[in-house]
Amino acid sequence: MSWIYAVERAVRNNVPKVEGILKDHPYLLDLAAKVRDGKTEVLRNLDRYVEETIKAVERSGGRAYLASTSEDAREIVSKIVGSGKTVVLGKSMVAYEAGIRKHLISTGNDVWETDLGEFLIQLADEPPSHIIAPSLHMTKERAEEVMRSVDPELKGASHERIAGVARKFLREKFVKADVGITGANAVAADTGSVVLVENEGNIRMTTILPEVHVAVTGVEKILPNLELAMYEALVQAAFGGLYPPSYVNVSSGPSSTADIEMKRVRPAHGPKEFHLVLLDNGRKEAAKDPVLWQSLLCVRCGRCHLHCPVYRVLGVNWGIPPFTGPMGAMWSAVIYGDRRPAMMCTHSGGCKEVCPMRIDIPRVLEELKARELKR
Ligand code: SF4
Repeated sequence: MSWIYAVERAVRNNVPKVEGILKDHPYLLDLAAKVRDGKTEVLRNLDRYVEETIKAVERSGGRAYLASTSEDAREIVSKIVGSGKTVVLGKSMVAYEAGIRKHLISTGNDVWETDLGEFLIQLADEPPSHIIAPSLHMTKERAEEVMRSVDPELKGASHERIAGVARKFLREKFVKADVGITGANAVAADTGSVVLVENEGNIRMTTILPEVHVAVTGVEKILPNLELAMYEALVQAAFGGLYPPSYVNVSSGPSSTADIEMKRVRPAHGPKEFHLVLLDNGRKEAAKDPVLWQSLLCVRCGRCHLHCPVYRVLGVNWGIPPFTGPMGAMWSAVIYGDRRPAMMCTHSGGCKEVCPMRIDIPRVLEELKARELKR
């Protein structure tokens, strides 16, 4: 039960922090409203925006794919990666959803999660418990125990020392990596750019050092333009409690240079190839649902989790990983067609109060309950 203490520590650390951020930077509420409008526009015209995004990626020298299912996504990524490669992965809950890490390992690749939380759950072979803090259920003591598989000498270590062990191990992997796989906080339909917000620096290295960058994300991450995609990244960081973020990365096709006669050519020093895999997996169907469509507005800030009494008791046991907590109860229905997690909602309403996208989560869960009872 140590995870209950870990979640309570996270609540104590995170809840006042987000409140402080929103008080100090009130413009974030305006940005959140603009992002909601942009996402609503895309969800109403999803097929058109997917098509626009694919064309924009191709204009910038990359390749884009629409994967209908997780299996399709695994197949596309597998063809790009091949076997016998070193692969670094970062910030992609969609890659987890599609089972990409395990698949690439089974096809003979050396694959490493590079986000510290994701690295910990890879080492522990556990599912992620929170959408932005996958190892939220681990206390420091448990993290140290898990990290001992990398450094057997680790004992009575501080948070900094545990992070230092991961840093040393993973920096070697970054340098060796052939392929970097990320998710996306947002994708801009007008430019085909992938926007990623982070703090650790692992995304920057994953998108820059390997010769090939593959971004795997859901179709609902598309925003009409790069301006709104950048806002989305800032909103996600702020409502997640990490503002200002250490880094915001924009990847638009392979690396490029215009240093000779101002003619833009690719590649330059970064990746030679850029691939964007957009996963449907039930999202397009949900976008047409009169109630469930709202769940696709989610920016994955993870704030609803920490204001929910059910999540604070059940943690990773509520929802189907990586979709846990109130957002996970909605998303378990979107992706897996499983409405049972919705049945556990007690309708405290805290999630709705704090959601930056103003998703009426209790209403969505009420509808899912009604459909489940009818069945
Ligand atoms: S449902 Fe709202 S509060 Fe919860 S993770 Fe998504 S955007 Fe954040």
